[in-house]
Amino acid sequence: MTHPVSVVHQRWQTLPIRVRGTVIIVLPVTCLFMALSAFAWLKASLVEDETWVQHTQIVRLETKRLLNALVDAETGVRGYGLTQRDEFLTPYNRAKAIIPKSLDRLEQLVQDNPQQTQRIQDIRTGVDENLRIFQQKLTLQRELKLIQGQTDIFVPVASLYAWLEEGKATMDATRTEIDRFAQTEEELWVQRRQHQDFYRQITWIVLCIFGVIGTLSAWFAVHLFYQLERELANREDRLRQTNQRLEIVCEQLQRFTANASHELRAPLAAVLSNAQVGLMDLDDLEEESIPLRQRLDKIVNLTKQMSSLVSDLLFLARHEGLLAADSLQCVDLTDLLSNLVVDWLPQGKTHQLTLTSQLPKMAVEVNADANLLQQAIANLLSNACRYTPAGGMIELRLLTRTDQALIQVEDTGIGIPPEALPHLFERFYRVDSKRAKASGGFGLGLAIAQQIVQAHGGHINVTSTLGQGSTFQISLPLNISTKAAQNLNRNGIK
Ligand code: ADP
Repeated sequence: MTHPVSVVHQRWQTLPIRVRGTVIIVLPVTCLFMALSAFAWLKASLVEDETWVQHTQIVRLETKRLLNALVDAETGVRGYGLTQRDEFLTPYNRAKAIIPKSLDRLEQLVQDNPQQTQRIQDIRTGVDENLRIFQQKLTLQRELKLIQGQTDIFVPVASLYAWLEEGKATMDATRTEIDRFAQTEEELWVQRRQHQDFYRQITWIVLCIFGVIGTLSAWFAVHLFYQLERELANREDRLRQTNQRLEIVCEQLQRFTANASHELRAPLAAVLSNAQVGLMDLDDLEEESIPLRQRLDKIVNLTKQMSSLVSDLLFLARHEGLLAADSLQCVDLTDLLSNLVVDWLPQGKTHQLTLTSQLPKMAVEVNADANLLQQAIANLLSNACRYTPAGGMIELRLLTRTDQALIQVEDTGIGIPPEALPHLFERFYRVDSKRAKASGGFGLGLAIAQQIVQAHGGHINVTSTLGQGSTFQISLPLNISTKAAQNLNRNGIK
């Protein structure tokens, strides 16, 4: 039975690199986000707990303040009652001012807790009652003082005790109520502290867990990354080897094509010359020789076509890659194209076409093999003649753009359908067999033109509208002298 780990490993190996790369990145990033989210959530809970703890603390302090104020009020009243001195009234008056505010504040602080709210209301009733009793006692005392001041009335100790004891029960009840309120707040405070401590511990545990998971996943991701890198290096190695093998095969194929074409040339030439000689021998014979003449004519035509095909193949096999620098010369395109136009005028006339040219007055120089370049342009002109119906126009143009020379062959011919344009420069590609049959081409003319242009470091492209015509454009790097002349012209220096 296969081990589950090796099954997972095998499944992993079969996954596309895109998926594996995504897993490698997603793994630690997910851990990081999860850790951050958990931490943020726990932090928020901790902050909330902290707020509650502080809130309870404030309630506790305020309760203490209320109780102190109440005790101060009581002490003040008692002191005044016993000594008749006004300074005891100061803490009483201060407490009287504090108590309602403190009660309001407490009521506001515990408004979310119905039980405590009810208690505050009870406390308020008790406190109000106490304050009323204090006030009553004070009034009584003041009146007594007034009477004492006028006459010499003696206040017995027993009645003083009775005065002191008055309202004690209410005061005790209020105090008990305040204590109970404070006790509940104390319990709440303890609960909230515990809750806060619990969350603090959870935060640490969660952080530790995610830290461990994050570290493991990062380590795992690095391990996977190294594995992927090794695999990519292996693939690159295999690709390089395959490429080398392909290059060798290509080279062999090219050599074979060149050799085969070269070897075919001689027998084809022999077949052609024999057929032509045979035709000449038939010149003296009359009627009965017509079928034989037709057969020989066919042989001559086919052999010519085959020779042209073999020459094209030989050409393609021999001129692969960039041309050697020593095979290039400085070629004046203006001169070359004007000669070509003269050569092609009769051809144009044969096809009943108007051949015109638009060439600059100055020399436009490029580094090129003049014969090859001429062949490339001739292929374009030949196509223009073959694919333009009688009465049409062909124009040959030469332009310069920054550091490029542009040669354009424009015709008003049958045009090329858009879907054929990307394949046009492929070897043996013909737009459709009908027009190919009519023109007699093998679909190598444009491939040869492209190969020649690319061998010069240039570029060929086409724009065409079906039924309206086509424009083929060759762009070649300009020679330094032409570039300099162009710059002078641009700057207005003649
Ligand atoms: P061929 O020798 O068959 O013409 P090419 O490589 O020169 O081969 O051209 C490939 C195909 O491109 C041709 O079959 C033709 O249909 C199309 N083509 C080339 N030039 C033109 C043109 N000027 N106008 C219309 N079609 C063209």
